[in-house]
Amino acid sequence: MTAAKKTHRITLIPGDGIGPEVSGAVVKILEAAGAATGLAFDWHPYDAGANAFEKTGEYIPKVLYDSIEKNRVALKGPVTTPVGGGFTSINVTLRKKFELFANFRPVKNLPGLKTKYPGLDLVIVRENMEDLYAGLEHEVVPGVVQALKIITEKGSTRIAKFAFDYARKHGRKKIHAIHKANIMKLSDGLFLRCCQTVAKEFPEVAYHEHIVDNTCMQLVMNPYQYDILLTENLYGDILSDLCSAFVGGLGLVPGANLGTECAIFEAVHGSAPDIAGKDMANPTALLQSAVLMLHHIDEPATAERVQAGLEQVYREGKTLTKDVGGTSGTKAFADAVVAAMEAPGAAA
Ligand code: ATP
Repeated sequence: MTAAKKTHRITLIPGDGIGPEVSGAVVKILEAAGAATGLAFDWHPYDAGANAFEKTGEYIPKVLYDSIEKNRVALKGPVTTPVGGGFTSINVTLRKKFELFANFRPVKNLPGLKTKYPGLDLVIVRENMEDLYAGLEHEVVPGVVQALKIITEKGSTRIAKFAFDYARKHGRKKIHAIHKANIMKLSDGLFLRCCQTVAKEFPEVAYHEHIVDNTCMQLVMNPYQYDILLTENLYGDILSDLCSAFVGGLGLVPGANLGTECAIFEAVHGSAPDIAGKDMANPTALLQSAVLMLHHIDEPATAERVQAGLEQVYREGKTLTKDVGGTSGTKAFADAVVAAMEAPGAAA
């Protein structure tokens, strides 16, 4: 074992529901990987949401905001958002507070896992702060409620630029802007015009536009026709869950919320209360989010070690969680990834 040479301070939000189980598994795997690559993690853990409110009277305690501001990087488990009332989504509040305008979600198969669409490699780039997520709703008169969809030239141009920059940097060939501009002519129309303007600066990336409902059908018929999906906030949310099914479900797909100053890494899935506390949750999605985080903090060797261990466990297929056809629990899965990383011949 190599002595730790470098320490990264990372804000950790374990979350609720399956959050503490999946984040516990991920921390364990990262600690083991770091011990071998000479990397230490100084975790700064904080509650958020209902748990935080019970203890501190605040849904997002000030110390959590301060910690993210200082560390600039957070790993976040899911935090339950009450349906149809209650407090505002913690996820949405954090994204707005730290201007995390880009939500980056790679959808890729893991080896050994049988799916209907092998070899899929899609990226969803979702605008993260505007649209119906602006949270502007009010009752006009009893029985009539209005929700405002906010689309701005600044926000649309910024997310389009992010998607095209990513495509250029990573040699991706094609971007589809997803919209409903036939109905929402002004708002989605503005989003499309911004995408078209940005696309002109990137002639090497093919640019297309698809209507969102057609996109759902096209995705199920032939997801291989897509490379990068560039979407507004709500369409991106729905398409993310849909696309997760192509590679094995919500337990697998990671995500990064990126801004100019800070970044929060979290899985696509929510708190899954139906399986919470049962040692059933698949930590792969949060683990792959942590791999994105390790690349973000410029620790590729540790990122590759974790990814290699994870892929080895899937390749062997002996210690998988129930959602992907296995019989193992969260803890056994995490132990298997650690063992795979430490096996002779594993990547350094
Ligand atoms: P949200 O709207 O808060 O993102 P959601 O509607 O996407 O939540 P989830 O809480 O993510 O819903 O879960 C949907 C279902 O998917 C759960 O009931 C659970 O059965 C399954 N699921 C989600 N995440 C996982 C996971 N990590 N491991 C195993 N199953 C999961």
